[in-house]
Amino acid sequence: MTAITNHMPTAELQALDAAHHLHPFTDTAALARKGARVITQGEGVWLTDSEGHRILDGMAGLWCVNLGYGREELAETAARQMRELCYYNTFFQTTHVPAIALAAKIAELAPGDLNHVFYAGSGSEANDTNIRLVRHYWAARGKPDKTVIIGRRNGYHGSTMGGASLGGMSAMHRQGGLPIPGIAHIGQPDWWSEGGEMTPGDFGLMRARELEAKILELGEDRVAAFIAEPVQGAGGVIVAPETYWPEVQRICDKYEILLIADEVITGFGRTGNWFGSQTMGIRPHIMTIAKGLSSGYVPIGGSIVCDEVAATVAAAGEFAHGYTYSGHPVAAAVALENLRILQEDGVIDHVRDVAHPYLAERWQALADHPLVGEAKLVGLMGSIALTPDKAKRARFASEAGTVGLRARERCFANDLVMRHVGDRMIIAPPLVIRPEEIDVLIDRARKSLDETYAAIKADGLL
Ligand code: PMP
Repeated sequence: MTAITNHMPTAELQALDAAHHLHPFTDTAALARKGARVITQGEGVWLTDSEGHRILDGMAGLWCVNLGYGREELAETAARQMRELCYYNTFFQTTHVPAIALAAKIAELAPGDLNHVFYAGSGSEANDTNIRLVRHYWAARGKPDKTVIIGRRNGYHGSTMGGASLGGMSAMHRQGGLPIPGIAHIGQPDWWSEGGEMTPGDFGLMRARELEAKILELGEDRVAAFIAEPVQGAGGVIVAPETYWPEVQRICDKYEILLIADEVITGFGRTGNWFGSQTMGIRPHIMTIAKGLSSGYVPIGGSIVCDEVAATVAAAGEFAHGYTYSGHPVAAAVALENLRILQEDGVIDHVRDVAHPYLAERWQALADHPLVGEAKLVGLMGSIALTPDKAKRARFASEAGTVGLRARERCFANDLVMRHVGDRMIIAPPLVIRPEEIDVLIDRARKSLDETYAAIKADGLL
């Protein structure tokens, strides 16, 4: 077989891809007919594809390439660590410097007494760890019946059996008999889509109190934890009304329910603070981390655990759980270097003081567009809701996602990566994005919206 390289014609690469590569969250037959887009290079906020297009990546890959593409320091660190110690495990009373140094750094950065890290290879794995950890914790405290974990409909916590069960994605639950037992769900704080005639504040309180109702329904002695994303990401960048999180915190405190903040997207600067929990003013017992921990350069995730939970678990003997790649030295070294750069280059200050304010002004202005209802932005994660009638916060009559999908196709055609979730368009660009690049993002987004508007009007969808 000839070598498969970037220099091969796109059609040949696509044919090979279709023949042998099964893509995540993809209709394989449909993709095979169309051919996958082949990305060949990345630099800063820019991607290049096999046709030579220069694409602005408004999604930082999958919300992960926070430092942008092509950082030499991270490549150097990986190469150096591979030469020195490419792998060793952290089972059997063994450790190594990258795992130690990264855990200490994460403990320094994480708020409060979140001082202990259990490593995983991804966000999904880390959430599976969390399921086992919180059940083990309550058993160690003499409450073995506290096993149920409450998540939210339209939450996303990964694709493993555990992660997908904690999440509340109905399309995922429809396949393969999910959720697994011992997981319950409450509604999401999405006022735009579900708030009806209520004020956002009242709606936020109502959705928070569903947690209390669920705890009372199941019995306080059966509920181990509540898991939620500080800002829902894959669900469409849903920002809870201001009343929501204080009430959730009150309920978790009152009933002694562990609060797990899934910071896989919101961690490491995305919301303008190190962690989304700080932006939302919550005090979780456990945080799930991945993605921005290494800026996506290598796979790594983990759970940051508070002193009390860590001490209780430590006192209970062996926690029978772990992954071959827990604390992988190359991943840990790259993550540590990524955190060093985030800190020394003041990237989070850049998000808070420069990129967010600049993008916020231009993003909010998109709400003037005839297709756009609300425009939301927290730090550098944003969404716009597409609607045929702003005043009524109406949905398109066509199958959910059709208009969003069409808008995303226009974005692709205009060399912008913007994702759609149903009829919401979402962005999460690299945190290092500069004002002039934000201008390009907005110009391409507006052009794509204009084209979508014209096309759906012509098709009689408005
Ligand atoms: N939690 C959240 C909040 C996520 O957004 C994701 C991934 N999008 C995950 C967990 C799962 O992470 P991974 O894909 O690394 O398993």
